Amino acid sequence: MQARECTRCAELAATRTSVVFGAGNADADLMFVGEAPGANEDLQGLPFVGAAGKLLEKLLGEIGLSRAEVFIANVLKCRPPGNRDPRPGEIENCTPYLIRQVELVQPRVICTLGNFATKLLRGDPAGITRVHGQPEVCTIGSHTTRLYPIYHPAAALYTPRTMDTLREDFLALPGVLGLAPAAPSPAFDDAPAAVEPPVAPAPAAIAVPEPPGPKQLGLF
Ligand code: URA
Repeated sequence: MQARECTRCAELAATRTSVVFGAGNADADLMFVGEAPGANEDLQGLPFVGAAGKLLEKLLGEIGLSRAEVFIANVLKCRPPGNRDPRPGEIENCTPYLIRQVELVQPRVICTLGNFATKLLRGDPAGITRVHGQPEVCTIGSHTTRLYPIYHPAAALYTPRTMDTLREDFLALPGVLGLAPAAPSPAFDDAPAAVEPPVAPAPAAIAVPEPPGPKQLGLF
């Protein structure tokens, strides 16, 4: 994995200060996946160090967790200029890095923050407003885990109702972490069925993507 020298997205490679790969406990039970680095993250080379990151830390503190105990990554490892939305081709280029991170960390729960991470990892275009707060078993690369979509903290900073919902979903997170580990679906594996029924409909599977090419993920 040569993320630090990656030039798959010519514009991002030319405009970034740093590749923000991810940070935290590489053995974490809980992983967060945000959208893309912003200006502060690009300068410091670390994810979620700006205002949204401060809120994430505060919410973590409210459930008795610290930033050092979790792993934090983003869909894109490079800052889109002017904080524009990630483009489908950029997401496709960067997804193999995220899948590898999931396979290495092997978290019990992945909290997707906002629409981009949620749509990508669920493999479904349903928006965060519809699916937030609902854990579901999902296989990402070779790792079966529980996805738990929640609002992006940046969205909550300016909208009190979103903040309330984000906090509510956060307060349910210890319960999601306490569920029995997600087991691979027998459809994908010979392993025995999960010891408990999945809390949400059939698991989505994300195959390790092909190397970057013309194929689109069809997310948007
Ligand atoms: N927003 C994100 O999605 N990721 C960061 O790292 C910072 C802000």
